[in-house]
Amino acid sequence: MTKWVYLFNEVKEAEKISGGSWDAVKALVGGKGSGLLDMTRAGVPVPPFFTVTTEACNAYQKAGKFPAGLWDQELKALKAVEKQTGKKFGDPKNPLLVSCRSGAKFSMPGMMDTVLNLGLTDVTAAGMVKLTGNARFVYDSYRRLVEMFGSVVLGIPDESFEQPLHEYKHEKGYKLDTEMTAEDWAQMVEAFKAVIRKEKGFDFPQDPYKQLELATEAVFKSWNGKRAIDYRNATGISHALGTAVNIQTMAFGNMGEDSATGVAFSRNPSTGDKKMMGEFLFNAQGEDVVAGIRNTSQIETLQERMPKAYAEFMKIAARLEKHYKDMQDVEFTIERGKLWMLQTRNGKRTAQATVKMAVDMALEGLISKDEAVERVTPENVDTLLHPQFDNEAKKNAEKEGKLIAKGVNASPGAAVGQIYFDADMAEKMAKEGKQDTIMVRPFTKPDDVHGMIASKGVLTSEGGATSHAAVVARQFGIPCVVGASAIKIDLDKRIMNVGDIVVKEGEWISVDGTTGLIYVGKIPVSIPSIEDQVELMTLLKWADEICSRKNIRSATDGGPTRGLQVWANADYPKDAQRARSYGAVGIGLCRTEHMFFEPERLPIVQEMILADSSEGRTSALNKLLPSQRKDFDGLFEAMDGYPVIIRLIDPPLHEFMPDEEKLLEEVVTMRVKGESVGLKAKEDLLESVKGMHESNPMMGLRGVRLSIVMPEIVEMQVRAIFEAAADCTLRGIVVKPEVMIPLTGTVKELDWIQPRLERIAAAVMGEKKIKFEYKFGSMIEIPRAAITAADVARDAEFFSFGTNDLTQMTYGYSRDDAERNFLITYQEQGILLKNPFQTIDRHGVGTLMQWAISEGRKTRPNLEVGICGEHGGDPDSIEWCHMIGNNYVSCSPFRVPIARLAAAHAALKHRPVIAKKPAAKKTVAKKAVVKKAVKKVAKKKSK
Ligand code: PEP
Ligand code: MG
Repeated sequence: MTKWVYLFNEVKEAEKISGGSWDAVKALVGGKGSGLLDMTRAGVPVPPFFTVTTEACNAYQKAGKFPAGLWDQELKALKAVEKQTGKKFGDPKNPLLVSCRSGAKFSMPGMMDTVLNLGLTDVTAAGMVKLTGNARFVYDSYRRLVEMFGSVVLGIPDESFEQPLHEYKHEKGYKLDTEMTAEDWAQMVEAFKAVIRKEKGFDFPQDPYKQLELATEAVFKSWNGKRAIDYRNATGISHALGTAVNIQTMAFGNMGEDSATGVAFSRNPSTGDKKMMGEFLFNAQGEDVVAGIRNTSQIETLQERMPKAYAEFMKIAARLEKHYKDMQDVEFTIERGKLWMLQTRNGKRTAQATVKMAVDMALEGLISKDEAVERVTPENVDTLLHPQFDNEAKKNAEKEGKLIAKGVNASPGAAVGQIYFDADMAEKMAKEGKQDTIMVRPFTKPDDVHGMIASKGVLTSEGGATSHAAVVARQFGIPCVVGASAIKIDLDKRIMNVGDIVVKEGEWISVDGTTGLIYVGKIPVSIPSIEDQVELMTLLKWADEICSRKNIRSATDGGPTRGLQVWANADYPKDAQRARSYGAVGIGLCRTEHMFFEPERLPIVQEMILADSSEGRTSALNKLLPSQRKDFDGLFEAMDGYPVIIRLIDPPLHEFMPDEEKLLEEVVTMRVKGESVGLKAKEDLLESVKGMHESNPMMGLRGVRLSIVMPEIVEMQVRAIFEAAADCTLRGIVVKPEVMIPLTGTVKELDWIQPRLERIAAAVMGEKKIKFEYKFGSMIEIPRAAITAADVARDAEFFSFGTNDLTQMTYGYSRDDAERNFLITYQEQGILLKNPFQTIDRHGVGTLMQWAISEGRKTRPNLEVGICGEHGGDPDSIEWCHMIGNNYVSCSPFRVPIARLAAAHAALKHRPVIAKKPAAKKTVAKKAVVKKAVKKVAKKKSK
């Protein structure tokens, strides 16, 4: 018989069945269940419980009913819990009450269902009143059960219960729930029972076993509820995992003023500071804290009223953090002074906290530096370098009276957007209206997650740092401010106001999740400085150290044995400086043509293009030479000591010319108006532009082809590169120029052009009487070049994969039009899993790259290989580059930190497994023992 249920003391059994791996235990009994089992084993006070496995959930989903044996096993486990607690389920004299909670392998906070206080009936409630002498507590608990059972198990809308409670309080003149008496709650129990009868046509079950059975089933079903599915889609959690169900003895935080309940993080989940952050409520149940409906107290204040429980709690929280080697998110309840731990799990946190905690924990010796690096995701780094509000702009906005409120800074970052007051509208306007939206609500519920994910920011007027809105926003890196109580939201009128300032739906606000400040209107944002982020800098240094470790990579075909280096694509010295400050150790692509577009240069470039002789071209190019030399000089200086790859001109020449249609229009207008001055020149220009027209310019006269047809341009460029390099060398700068020839399709092209250019290089060095390291190499961006890489490497001293063009030409998709025309449909239809222009298609383009490297290194074993297409900043593509033996990846300066981390992740993930040698010491020791024995024998013999 399959074991569907695990008791609180059966952690060993769960480990055995799961083959000893904790990950498999989690998959079997869920994250919450495994945490409870583990805590119980560690001697932490956990209310007795049992867990129904995820396998049972999956069996239920398949068959639509409980699998055989499950219910019997639940009953048996319940008996054991009864024995442990000394209470009995359904017994009026000393009733056992239980909670029934979901708990999947990966935490999905608030996305599935929970029912508390199961076991309360008219009879047991009366018994409990006698037992506790606290009728108010009992009827409050009972009405909660009827309400939760009605909404969660029976699917009755919340409002059906909220309405009668609201009316009752209104009639009595009560404002707060705390004003309700025992009698009031008893009346609400009856009112809620009537709701069930009216909505469902049957009574709230008075059989506690029926309650338990239906609640278990409801949790199973909630695995496939809309919000759970949406959440899994957004977080990439597999739909096949299923949820476990935890049935646990209730511990009551609402038994009076000596009881409390709360949630806490062992470190601050927003900033990462090593200081516990938590909230609690006296005389309340857990949901009151999480829902953010009542104003909670800070955890420190628990110490005053309950010093013993507080001290024990702090000790346990610290122990749990040490045990799990990570920040813990714990739930606790104090029932009449006795502390119970209800849950522990690795806490969700902001990107800033992720980095700070990882670095701190490594420095504390809790985890290794490698683990710290592994804990931070490239997305975390991305978030930290995201735009933030400009300080000056914030001050100005404040002066102008635009600062309207301050709330709790729940999730950092700057968000500017148009406000919407419900999740559906926020999602619709973001997706269909292509707007930047900010979702504004009094507080959020799990049903709101889709609106939050679609929005740039979230703002609530109620709730604290552990409220639903805060937790979800942090997880998704969405800037969020909660509990901005100065803001009054009128959901009917679709407005919010602070005093006289009224903001209507669709109007703009700016939300600063880092400080908790809210402004009306749009505030400009700026990019944060990386140097100020000390922990991030430390973590990235550790990432670099991982990549520079010898033998971190098993050499493929004689390739590098260290990890990837990260270089950057930069066209101007200021980009190179930024790249360097972000940690780039080379320039992998300088697109020289960008320099030609400068306003004062473009006319000279056009003059050169229009010249009808080589002399004419050379004369125009001579005018460009000094500025090109200056450009390169700046780059070499910025990258002192590091390689700089300069790509010779690549695009078709028409890109530098005026637009043909516009020219035609101008010519026609001049003719119509009879303007003759300048007409002839315009007509000639039009003719030239027409002459350059190509049906398929991306596959036309560009790259090396252009250099062969018109060598004067690249000859000027190479002269400029080497003159600048020589001048820099003379100034004491260490230069490593690498000249890159684009769009090579056959080595014959290189055979033709490269020697001419090398002659210029040699000539310049001769003229300047100086020598320095340099290379000539080729881009690999045409499939033929990849296929014939062994030939190409005869001339090319380095390869750089231009994966933008290589993807375009391998798939035959136009890189300019495919996204707009069909790529989205292809992804939606599952024809393409990922956009191949963002993430390397390993199977096709990636395999060409792999082949090219292996063939290239057959000809030239020390061939330097890089990538400079957009993929160079994409973590998945970076991993591939590591696997196939690239020396470096090159990406935009802003992505350099992300790439450094991704390179380290790839290195750690694929580090070679070194077979353990027998310990040398032991061998020596053994030998010594043998020697001793031999000696002894010898001695004996000699005796
Ligand atoms: C490429 O094709 O990947 C590349 C880097 O060149 P460009 O994008 O300039 O064509
Ligand atoms: Mg290209």
